[in-house]
Amino acid sequence: MKNVKKFRGKALLMGTVLLLSACSAGRYAATEKIYKEKAKGFATVLSATPPEGQQIPTLDQGIQSWIGSVNFGIRKPNFVIIHHTAQDSLTQTVNTFLNAKAEVSAHYVIGRDGKVVQMVNDYLRANHAGAAKWGNDSDLNSSSIGIELDNNGKTDPFTDAQLRSLVGVLEVLKKKYNIPTANFIGHADIAPGRKVDPMNFPWKVLAKKGFGFWYDDVLQLPPENFDTTLALRIIGYNTANLKSAISAFKLHFVQNDNTAVLTATDKLILFNLYKKYM
Ligand SMILES: [Zn+2]
Repeated sequence: MKNVKKFRGKALLMGTVLLLSACSAGRYAATEKIYKEKAKGFATVLSATPPEGQQIPTLDQGIQSWIGSVNFGIRKPNFVIIHHTAQDSLTQTVNTFLNAKAEVSAHYVIGRDGKVVQMVNDYLRANHAGAAKWGNDSDLNSSSIGIELDNNGKTDPFTDAQLRSLVGVLEVLKKKYNIPTANFIGHADIAPGRKVDPMNFPWKVLAKKGFGFWYDDVLQLPPENFDTTLALRIIGYNTANLKSAISAFKLHFVQNDNTAVLTATDKLILFNLYKKYM
């Protein structure tokens, strides 16, 4: 009985592999070839001993050596950055990410119909964050998975099918890579003043499912000496441009006005949230 089950599993797997290669053999064969060549290049870099270009040039060569350990693994993503594509269809976004001149990509693109297209291996670095900072992490592309939601960024609502697929992807990523609840954030959060995506995003719904934080229903008054800039900074915002940081915070957590001023209510929300991020 066990053997039959195993065989069935294998047959199913082979079917999936065939289907995947059939898809990529046609329309995307040329870009698939480029992906494989690039990935092979990285594999060569990873397997070189001693690693190339990692000797410390300012130290004497004679005092440096290489002895490969037997205990190591591959680095894992620790953040998920959510975007909206600001494009009109999944195909348009996929084509952008296949265009070398565009220089941009994301690990996953999720269509309005809930279709999920993976475009970069979770372990590789996609070009989705750009110049960004969160806390003291200034290379979010290296530490995160980027997820693009097909949405024109104007009047489009995020569809139920799209959000269902997103939650499905997030559940697996959170568990597989042990990503902290706080580390599910948006592009606008890490690039204040430069990006506004995802706009009008149901962060509260996501937070209820364990992806990102949301404020409590009952809010306490902050103390008189409450330092709002420090609170934004503790949450993760880059406060170098304070107005942009406030706008980004409100875009995510307030959503009804994006002015760069913290109202009394905004301060209650900020105080409540900053304690969760501490
Ligand atoms: Zn974005």
